[in-house]
Order: sequence, then structure tokens, then C-alpha cells
Amino acid sequence: MSSLETELSIYLHIPFCSVKCSYCAFNTYTDLEHLIPSYVDALCSELAFAAGHCCDRRVHTIYFGGGTPSLLSPRQFELVLQQLATSFRIVDDVEVSLEANPDDLSEAYLRDLRLLGFNRLSIGMQSANAAILQMFDRRHDLQTVETALEYARRAAFDNVNLDVIFGSPGENMVDWQGTVEAMLRFSPEHVSMYGLELKGGTRLREQVDAGELPRPDDDLFADMYEFAAASLAAAGYGQYEISNWRRPGKECQHNLQYWRNLEYLGVGAGAHGFSGGYRYSTIASPARYIAALRSQSARITTGVPTPAAAKSTLVSEADDLYETIMMGLRLTKEGINRVRFRQRFGRDFIEIFAGPAQRMCAAGLLNVTSERIRLSQDGRLLSNGVIRAFVDEITL
Ligand code: SF4
Repeated sequence: MSSLETELSIYLHIPFCSVKCSYCAFNTYTDLEHLIPSYVDALCSELAFAAGHCCDRRVHTIYFGGGTPSLLSPRQFELVLQQLATSFRIVDDVEVSLEANPDDLSEAYLRDLRLLGFNRLSIGMQSANAAILQMFDRRHDLQTVETALEYARRAAFDNVNLDVIFGSPGENMVDWQGTVEAMLRFSPEHVSMYGLELKGGTRLREQVDAGELPRPDDDLFADMYEFAAASLAAAGYGQYEISNWRRPGKECQHNLQYWRNLEYLGVGAGAHGFSGGYRYSTIASPARYIAALRSQSARITTGVPTPAAAKSTLVSEADDLYETIMMGLRLTKEGINRVRFRQRFGRDFIEIFAGPAQRMCAAGLLNVTSERIRLSQDGRLLSNGVIRAFVDEITL
């Protein structure tokens, strides 16, 4: 196995937010910030437990996501990072990422985090448009994002991502062009750009279903994506995933672990993980998660590296194929590596998927070389259909 297959990633979920954004369906809670100190203790206990299940695999990425990780203090991060360093073997150039809301960031806070070892910052910008930010119930404006970026630069962060969302109700092309222009003016090293999904249970979905807000238009979605992709390319950003662009060498190593369908630990309430051939999720409620970690009688599921598992499944070969294709085809440069695919499944990709591969190539949606299988430029816009063509073929 190469180091890619042996190195491990760790995701830590921080399920607290000051305000619930109107589009958000993540496992996150408002008004529970008083739980943060005991939550940090629980994270440390879970990490110590997980380390016992992961032999001596080296950790190459650590990602604090949420929720709003930037609600934790530097001292709370220090405790978690100390536990990570005690429990795991960590590579010298480990990528340590923080998701942050711009309004939580000060220069002093970011300097402290940089000293603790954080070296990648992902800021939720979402839009440059004040009306859209208000519709999203975001607490910041464009100026706050600009100021957060300045603080980050002064604190010596040289790997900053901006998250932006397109296709929100009522957003037109001019609005979106304003967001793309502002984002490029800030000159981040990395951009994640997602089309808005109206997920069930969100306030925005309810408003659209009730006719209070207009339903986003699919054709406009595609035009917005193409405009942003062209603008990013013209500004020197390379696309490496359907929704992600970066300056040279600034790929998010943590997300590459997911897209390559490699293993990672998920730690914290409602986290998802993939380890030892199991996919699992943990107890979603922060209070019940903390109680499970405190309890001597916490449920231990064989093969799952947490005493706070809510669900776990031993991944079948069919599921593994599904994940490998679904994630690998998102990687626009790398695609599905045929050598690694053969090592993993014992057969060549084309041997299993000759029919759909031929059809997708003939339709101009797929590129096949001796090394990799990738979506073509046109295939990126129709990725769901291409992925479905392969997934429908999985009958193992
Ligand atoms: S800050 Fe992020 S996690 Fe929290 S509610 Fe908003 S989108 Fe969801």
C-alpha cells in the first residue's frame, strides 16, 4: 500500500452555532454553547479511545468542522490538539484546518490558532450580496469577510479557503457576478463553490415550498457555475474537484481523503467516519454524546473506533464501488486512478463498466486514459447522470 492508503485523516465535529442559517441542514444546535467545556473533554476521551483502534497509522490531516468551530477558545483547541498529539502519530507537515465564521475572527485569535498549529482556514463568505446574506440569516456582511481575511494574513495564514453559494432564491446573474468579483478581489488560495440545495427541514426550503420565495432555476444554476468556473480559470485558479478550485499546491488534503474514498475518523456528536471497513456515525445530540463518553457502560461496537456510535455498517464491495465512483468522478483532474482501483477491487474499471464507459465516452461526457477515468468538461455539468450510469451497473 502507498502512504495514501495508510495515512489517516481525522474530522472533529463542533455542533454549536450562535444562529441557525436558513439553508443549513447540518447537525448543529443554537443555545447549547454552555456545553462546550464538557464537549471538549468528551472529544479528548473519544480521541483516546479511537487511537487504540487505529494501530499506529499516521495522521496527515485534522479538520475541525461544524457547526461553528470558531466558537471554541484557543485554550479549548489546545486541549484537543494536545490529546491528538498524545494519542496519535502525526506527520510533521500535517494539515490542520478550521472552519470559521468571519464574524468570530480577530487578529489575536487567529495568531493564537496559528501558534497552536492551525495552517488552513476555511471562511464561510457565502455571498457578497447583503440581501442574500440576510435571507440566509448570516450575521456578517462583505466588510466582515474582508476584515477577517486581513486578520488571517497578518496572523500568517497562507492557505485560506472561501466558501460561496450560488443559485439562492431570487439571486440573478448580476448578484452572482458581484459575489465572484468580490471573492476574487480577496485572493484566497482556495475556493469552494456550491449550488444551493434546498434541504428538507430548513427554513429556506419551507419558504420556497410555501411560495414565499422563488424556486431557483436550473438553467440559471448552470450559467452561474460556468461563469464562476471561467472567472476562476482566468484568475489562475485550477479546478481539481467539481466544486473546488485552488492555487497551485493548495488542494485541501483532508477533502482529498474523502474523494479518494480513503479512511478517516469522525469524532464528535453526529460525526461520520470510515475506518476498518466500517462506515459509522456517532450520537447526534451533544448532551447524549457527552453522557456516552462519560459513561462506563458506553456501547462498544466491534470494529467501530468510538464508544458513541449511533449507526455502523460493514461496507460491502458494492457499496465500496459506489463510493469510489461517486467520489472519484468528482475529482476533475485526478479522476478514478485505474491502478489504485485495480489494487482495491482486483479488476480493472473498464472490465467492470465497459458498457456505461463506452456510452459516456461516445456522448463526450467521459475521458478514459490508461491511467485514469475522468469527467470531460461537458460531463462536469451532467455529473449526476454520468455517475448514475455507472452506479446502475453495480450488481455485485
Ligand atoms: S454557521 Fe454553518 S453550521 Fe452553523 S447554522 Fe450556519 S451554515 Fe449551519
